Amino acid sequence: MNCNTAATPVQFALGLANTQERDLNLSFHGADRSVTGSCHLVECAGKRILIDCGLHQGSRELDEENAEPFGFDAAGIDYVLLTHAHLDHCGRLPLLAKRGFRGEIITTSGSRELARLVMLDAAHLHEEDARYRARSGGHDDASHATNEPLYSTLDALNCLDYFGRTAIYSQVIEVAAGVRATFIDAGHILGSASIFLELEEQSHSTNVLFSGDLGNAGRLLLRSPTQPPHAENVVMETTYGDRLHKQLGPSIDEFYQAINETFKRGGNVIIPTFALERAQELLYFLSEGVTQGRLTKSTQVYLDSPMAISATEIFRRHPECFEPATAKLFQEGHDPFTLPGLHFTRETAESVAINNIHGGAIIMAGSGMCTGGRVRHHLQHNLGRADSSILFVGYAAIGTLARRIVNGEKQVNIFGENIPVRARIYTINGFSAHADQAELLAWQKQTSAKRTFLVHGEEDPMKQFAAHLADTRVEMPEPNQVFEL
Ligand SMILES: [Zn+2]
Repeated sequence: MNCNTAATPVQFALGLANTQERDLNLSFHGADRSVTGSCHLVECAGKRILIDCGLHQGSRELDEENAEPFGFDAAGIDYVLLTHAHLDHCGRLPLLAKRGFRGEIITTSGSRELARLVMLDAAHLHEEDARYRARSGGHDDASHATNEPLYSTLDALNCLDYFGRTAIYSQVIEVAAGVRATFIDAGHILGSASIFLELEEQSHSTNVLFSGDLGNAGRLLLRSPTQPPHAENVVMETTYGDRLHKQLGPSIDEFYQAINETFKRGGNVIIPTFALERAQELLYFLSEGVTQGRLTKSTQVYLDSPMAISATEIFRRHPECFEPATAKLFQEGHDPFTLPGLHFTRETAESVAINNIHGGAIIMAGSGMCTGGRVRHHLQHNLGRADSSILFVGYAAIGTLARRIVNGEKQVNIFGENIPVRARIYTINGFSAHADQAELLAWQKQTSAKRTFLVHGEEDPMKQFAAHLADTRVEMPEPNQVFEL
């Protein structure tokens, strides 16, 4: 109720009456017509429930957006339900706590462990970034940015105190009176879930299903997404709403072939990799390759990423999330993340020593898009060698070093040095952790949703996806848009 004059007692009472009559709202505060920063708010029965609180990522402008107000009062949030531990879904939780959130965060045990790792790593990077800004002469006058980190390690640790109940797949949680949540296996990364919310406000009841990020079915490590329930309203991701993925089998063949060809030439294989999921999936493929005799037993593999090493240890503690055949391997005492020539290199000195290996090694290191991290050192040593190979196994955004190499640039600059690209470049596209267009459409159809809100996608793929939807009212929310449920 907007009113220019001061509210009279009557108007105030009317306003209150209206609020009590119906206050079941859904609003959008991130990943609206974009792929990062997932954050959705449900208001029901006097409670305010956030679904995810992710970080905006991908450009400097988006980095700066993270420091902006949330679009709601952090102290007024009662619950956060977390779909999974990727940074673009959990990365603003420490900031939420820093700004006054004192409620309960509910998620699966796998997501809780991974989120701790991801948030602490992010805090460390924010602190380094702030130190760098301070050293390089402060902030530009155009922005209100300060040299303070978005949040510190202490903020991330503080945020861990708010993780409360653990969600178990397919079991209903009574979040609060009038609010029930069921976490459903989304098959995207370890612990990932779609969340089905059943809501009651006065005499009105409805439900809404949040897809989270949906996995690609038929992968070997994690289970495929569980079939979703019927829902009145659906909020769904559309990352690959416009395309179909390559098959997994041929991609694994390509992977082994690239490694064997490189070893024949006498070079090293460098794999820029994301620390969560992709690194563990590759370890699993390498281990299987050796077991099946498709790679030699003496294959030397270096996982040169402290975060990926920690994530692998978390994976080992959660065989309940694995595809039955993989879970059985664990039960029989086989660790699918190991092979005879595997080395975990946590220490910087161990990482530097890898530079002395002149051939026959597979080196996996972050970051996946080569925007930072140890992989840049390995590229510096191997990009110029015709006998070595660089294997790209994930998404490479425009403007990143990975994208420039994939696009065939003849020379790139790393640490101020111009390095000719002589190594063989392979791009393997079949390892995606996201559902493709056909899978997203099938999932949406199974929900029989009357209303479908599309989020977590660039505008073009989202519109193309929307054109395929039938028998549902499609919404593409703008940032901070509010809908009545
Ligand atoms: Zn994700």
